[in-house]
Formats: sequence, structure tokens, C-alpha cells
Amino acid sequence: MNHEQLAELLFPHINKSREDYEAQFPPRKLPEGARVTRLGPSPTGFIHLGNLYGAFVDERLAHQSGGVFFLRIEDTDEKREVEGAVEAVITSLDYFGVHFDEGALLEGEKGAYGPYFQRQRAEIYQCFAKWLVRQGMAYPCFCSEAEIQSMRERQEAEKANPGYYGAWAPCRGLTLEQIEEKLAAGLPFVLRFRAPEGAAESGESFEIEDAIRGRLSMPVNFQDTVLLKQNGIPTYHFAHVVDDHLMRTTHVVRGEEWLSSLPIHVALFEALGWEKPVYCHTTVLMKMDGENKRKLSKRKDPELGLSYYRRQGYHPAAVREYLLTILNSNYEEWRLANPDAPAEDFPFTTEKMSASGTLFDLDKLNDVCKDTLVKMPSAEIYDFLLAWAKDYQNGQPPEEEGVRCIGDLYSLFSENKEKMLRILDMDRTGPKPRKDLVYCEQIFDYISYFFDDYYRPEESFPENVPAEDRQKILAGYLETYCQTDEQSVWFDKIRALAVSLGYAAKPKEYQKAPEQYKGHVGDVSTVIRVALMGRRSSPNLWEIQQIMGEAQVRGRISACL
Ligand code: GLU
Repeated sequence: MNHEQLAELLFPHINKSREDYEAQFPPRKLPEGARVTRLGPSPTGFIHLGNLYGAFVDERLAHQSGGVFFLRIEDTDEKREVEGAVEAVITSLDYFGVHFDEGALLEGEKGAYGPYFQRQRAEIYQCFAKWLVRQGMAYPCFCSEAEIQSMRERQEAEKANPGYYGAWAPCRGLTLEQIEEKLAAGLPFVLRFRAPEGAAESGESFEIEDAIRGRLSMPVNFQDTVLLKQNGIPTYHFAHVVDDHLMRTTHVVRGEEWLSSLPIHVALFEALGWEKPVYCHTTVLMKMDGENKRKLSKRKDPELGLSYYRRQGYHPAAVREYLLTILNSNYEEWRLANPDAPAEDFPFTTEKMSASGTLFDLDKLNDVCKDTLVKMPSAEIYDFLLAWAKDYQNGQPPEEEGVRCIGDLYSLFSENKEKMLRILDMDRTGPKPRKDLVYCEQIFDYISYFFDDYYRPEESFPENVPAEDRQKILAGYLETYCQTDEQSVWFDKIRALAVSLGYAAKPKEYQKAPEQYKGHVGDVSTVIRVALMGRRSSPNLWEIQQIMGEAQVRGRISACL
């Protein structure tokens, strides 16, 4: 077979050489040890926690070492493409503080190693495909879907390894004349890699170091894998190898679902004579489902999609903080020793990543949110709530599925800035601040009683206070209520009211002789609390009334009489 002729026959339109591309995309001029990483999402529109998790690793590796982190859109599968998907990737990662130095942008792209959209790189892949054909390392395959399917069935019946290889690769042995004939007949073809002769029988393995998993032993590739599809667009395998070489990626961070195809990638790097990148295969994200751990699922777990965190109003700093705790096993320890340091100061390493399934725990994330928000000035939380409301609770019907429509919180927050700041400060400034604030939707539910239009009582009056006492408590409270009372004066009045109705002035007195009282002052103030805000516990009640103002306080109490 004259491979030179075959190469011209298959790729007559390709006249650039490998050297042209090597010269166009020379090794990057970066300081020693700088890492080049990339995120390669497919534009399917669904961006999930796994993407963010991987993007964090990429981002840290690059930016911690003075390297480059770029965005490459892997759009080789036109069928799965969704409009606006690129925008969704960029904006949602940006929200979580993941910024790219180079690559695809909201409009166009930037950087000297593009194009960064794979479909625009067809000629580049075909140049390297042509080179492989010239070396006898790739050949056209004309087998139809049906032929491949029937071969698969025979392999199954004979208990042979599945796939296209060795004796199971009919097009491997086509002569130039046969190929010419098929091309002349207009038969479509895919281009396949030609695995070394005898590879299938040898059963050899090779070793490779994964930066997360350590040393791995894997079978040498023996499959004649498809490099170019019938439309001349590459498969993931070929695009990965060509792109990560030409874009000078040093570290490939990707999900563990790619681990099993590592042998083909290694074989391709070797066939092309290129240095391999360092591979970092991340683990899948798991969650507890009752007693069992299972993979997070797109269908069952809304929290897998990144849009979930934005529409619920999770603060990106908290999500970042939490992700770091599950990314590196020594992060929490570092955080304890460095409570106020920026997370970027943490020395992130792939060695401290889990190689056996990472547990994602929403409750733990919520705890991290509480710790993050408790340190945040109320003005910052206010601005964050406002931005969230502008996007998700602005009174317009939600654009996205799964968004609970609460109302026009954007106007509400805008018109009540001073009040909101006082609300957000409640009991958060002393030595033992309350950690009530978690994420925007929860925060609004938590403070909604301040706003008549959104007020819904959640809890009922305490059962141990009879209805007729309740009325007396509320009526008595209204009679003596004075908005300008100092806190101590105000509470003395409640005490006096309690005593006058047969309730102990202090819980301790009641505990000593419960038979002498109907209850204690705490029961009386709970009645007032429920009347004011429909809840049995809350931050400082006096402070709440100061924020509410006299009219609202009197209105709520009267409504219960
Ligand atoms: N397009 C691939 C995916 O979305 C990227 C894998 C990689 O990072 O190499 O899974």
C-alpha cells in the first residue's frame, strides 16, 4: 500500500503540514513550573457541580503557578448542542469566581492558541489525520452501522473482546484500489487509528501516573478507534490529543468517565510523537441517599445543576469555600489555622484529592454558608440579596423551570434598604452572633414577617396558655406598650403582666414550684412573639419591634384579639 497516495486521496484539500501548526502554536513562554489547564465543556446547556468541581482544580492549578487557564468549547456533537449554552457556561462559572485567561468568550474568543471552538478546527485535525495516514497509522473504514452491529453480535456469541480490531477489522486490510473504488462509489467513511499489529493478542499493559490516583496499570490499546467521523469532525479522543498538544496544555483535569479511554489517548500521543500532559482524573460526586452512597443524578437531584445554587441564592464565596473542603482533605485544617485568610492562599494540590468518590453534602454546604454569612457585613448581604432578587424574584414570571415565584422582592428590598440593613444585623454583632442566614431564598423566608404582604404565621400559640389568658396577655400588652421604652423597661412590663395573670416572673421560680403558677414569663412572651410574627422563637423581640415600628406592632397584636 502506498500510504502517501492514500493520504492524498482522502485529504486532497489539506496542504498545511504538522510543522506549520507547530510553528503557529509554539510552546508557551511561561515561568518554570507554570501550568496550563483547560475546561472543555460540551455546549449541552446543563452545567453541573462536577463541571465546577473540575473547573476549580483547573483554576487553582493554573493560577497558583502563574500559568494559564483557558476555555475550549467541545462542540463536535452538533445534535446535543443547545442555544445559549456557551453563555451559560461562562456566566455560571463567572458567578462562582472561576475566570478564564483565554479561550471562548461571550462573543468570539481571545488568545493565540485558537480557534477555541472545536468545530472551527476541522482542518487542523484533518492535517494530523492525514499525517497518520501517511505513516500507515490510520485508515478509512467503510463499514456500515449494520455491519458493525452484526459483528458485535458475532463477537458476543464467540465471547471475543468487543470492538473493531485485528481480525475483527475488515477495513484494516483494504487495498488502495479497493478504497478508490469505494470512494468512487460515494461510500462514506470514518477514519480509524491502526493499532500496532498483534496488540490484541499480546494482552500487554503499561503504567501511567495520574496526579490524583497515583500509579495506574492499564491494558495497552488494541482498538482501531475512530478518529474522524463521516463528516470529518473528530471524536473526543482525537480532538483531545490534537488540541491539548497544540494548545500546550500541561494538566488535563477531567472526570473519571474518561479513565477507561486513557490507553487510546496514550497510544495517540505516542503515535504522533508528542509529550503527554499530566492526567488528573477526578472522582464522581456522590451523595448519601438514606444509608447508601450514590452518584448525584441529573434526574433525581436538582442540586446537581449549577443553576440551582444561583436561583436559591447561594453566595459564591460559600460555595467556593465548601468545594475546597471536599476538594482537598487538608483544607478544613488549614482553614482553622487561617480563619481570615483568602481561600486563594491555600496551597492546593492534586495529591490531597480523593480518588474514591467525593461526598457532596447539602447540609454541610448550608453550614458553611452560615459560617460565611455570619462574617459578612449586612451591607454586603443586602447587595447580594438585591442582585439575586433582580434576577429571580422581580415579579416577572420565572424564565427557568424550578424557580419558586415569591413576588417582587427586588422592589421590596430596594424600597426598604434601611429596614433591611437593620433586619440583617439582628443579633449578628455581639460575641455570640446568631447564624440564621444561609442563602437568599431561605433568608427571605426567615425575615418575611417584617413585610405585611408576605407575612404568613408559621407556628401557633403555645398550648399551655389557655385561650382566655392569651387574650388577656395581648390586651394587657397593648395597653402598656410604648415604642420608646428601653429594653429593660419593656421587659419589666411583660414581667409585671405575667405576674398579674398568675405566671412566674422568672423560669427558675416556676421550676422550683410549678404547682404555684400557670407557667412563667417565657410563656407570656411566646404568646406575644406568636402574635407579632407567627413564630415561637426569634432574635431579640424588643429589637424586632424597634424595626417593625409602633403601627405594625399594634396592628399585629390587635389582629389576634
Ligand atoms: N467535552 C468533555 C466533557 O464534557 C470534556 C472532557 C475533558 O475535559 O477532556 O466531558
